[in-house]
Amino acid sequence: MCAPVNENSADTVNQTPALYPVQSRWDVIVVGAGVAGLRAAQVAYAAGKSVLIIETTERIGGRIATDWVEGFALDRGFQVVLTAYPELKKALHLEDLQLKSFVSGAWVFTGNQTFYPLYDPLRHPIKAFGSLFKSLSVPFLTAKDIVQTIRLRWDIVSKPESACWNNDGLSTLEYLRQRGFSEPFIAAFWMPFLRGVFLDAELSTPASLFRFIFRMFALGTAALPAGGMETLPKTMASTLPSGVFRMNMGVQSATATSVLLESGETLQATSVIGATPSTSEKTVWRGTTCVYYGVAVSPINEAVLVLNGTGRGLINTLCVPTWVHPAYRAQGTKEHLVSVSLLGVHPNPRQAIESELANWFGNEAVDSWRWLKTDVIPHALPVWCGAHPILPTMKDTPIVCGDGASYPSLNGALFSGASAANQALSTFY
Ligand SMILES: Cc1cc2nc3c(=O)[nH]c(=O)nc-3n(C[C@H](O)[C@H](O)[C@H](O)COP(=O)(O)OP(=O)(O)OC[C@H]3O[C@@H](n4cnc5c(N)ncnc54)[C@H](O)[C@@H]3O)c2cc1C
Repeated sequence: MCAPVNENSADTVNQTPALYPVQSRWDVIVVGAGVAGLRAAQVAYAAGKSVLIIETTERIGGRIATDWVEGFALDRGFQVVLTAYPELKKALHLEDLQLKSFVSGAWVFTGNQTFYPLYDPLRHPIKAFGSLFKSLSVPFLTAKDIVQTIRLRWDIVSKPESACWNNDGLSTLEYLRQRGFSEPFIAAFWMPFLRGVFLDAELSTPASLFRFIFRMFALGTAALPAGGMETLPKTMASTLPSGVFRMNMGVQSATATSVLLESGETLQATSVIGATPSTSEKTVWRGTTCVYYGVAVSPINEAVLVLNGTGRGLINTLCVPTWVHPAYRAQGTKEHLVSVSLLGVHPNPRQAIESELANWFGNEAVDSWRWLKTDVIPHALPVWCGAHPILPTMKDTPIVCGDGASYPSLNGALFSGASAANQALSTFY
């Protein structure tokens, strides 16, 4: 079904595709093997169309990538799966990812080796009750903040998802203030937490995306798959026949019905889908830096996200992925993996963050940490201006998808991939 369709011979449809066909025609060509491209290919393939995915690199997954270093799975930038993402459940069986969840809540670092644990009382009543005494003395949390958090959750979960996307013109920060949260709670909790999600220092991201993401946290958990985030695109790719992929092949330009490869070859299709990040100069990107350490003794003792609530320093969040998922280390590896996330692009952050880490956990603890890798990712998330995603369509251009054509998240990329494929399928009838 996925072999190239020779217009003159119907019986070639089920044959193994020839590599690099000189003249061939496909029902749908997808450019880019990130999750948006994979989802577009899944939908077109499920509709019985012949599909070709062209990817310029040697690997599937685009911005979702995992490198194995000294027995640890290091995601290229800290990422999580939100199990409630509606589009994810359409793209794969969640159980195939062997997900393990973070504790719902966070530890907030307030300086000088002081951490305040905040747990979701609905998910972890015993933990929440156990830390109640400490929570009551949290310097940045008022009774009103607790009430507002419960009300926010109720307001968002009790309405349909579409209500999240109402464009009220507010930024996330304006919305949090309008909801009545105190400035100290915004600064110590919401700021580092949401900066980690949006990679946006000012929380200028439209409140609609915040409401959607908050809903996802409320309805599901943040989780990691066995073997790193790359398991996700690999699992999606496993639902497609291997013959659909053409790797290490860049596309130079594309129209609605053809692609010109960098090799000079032209391939034809009834419909072309462009699932590559925008290369437009107008696209503004948010960056992040992630630093990994192997540690003999974990600085924390549970699968929780630690937030920098001080408002100072380079570190935004920290976690120990091996607490979340044991399959973030190879069998026989005894150390824990520490992941430290920074906002923005920092080519040489080690000296600065290691002195911050000493303030977090003490000199003695941090001295023995073994640096593994620093990932600097300038193009992590495209800046999103708001409004519910609308796919642009222009005459004689490919159908566009990807998180840049929807909203910056895995769910947005998957949604736009499926929408693009459905748009392509409509050209067949
Ligand atoms: C560090 C980081 C953290 C993140 N955290 C989260 C998170 O916690 N939760 C969440 O929901 N989302 C998160 N995201 C966002 C999510 O990963 C992305 O939204 C999603 O992966 C984008 O997928 P995509 O298919 O749209 O684009 P991409 O993944 O960029 O895929 C595009 C593909 O096109 C290929 N390509 C480009 N040009 C060409 C060409 N000319 N010819 C052929 N192929 C080409 C590229 O090589 C790439 O494989 C994070 C992203 C990053 C980077």
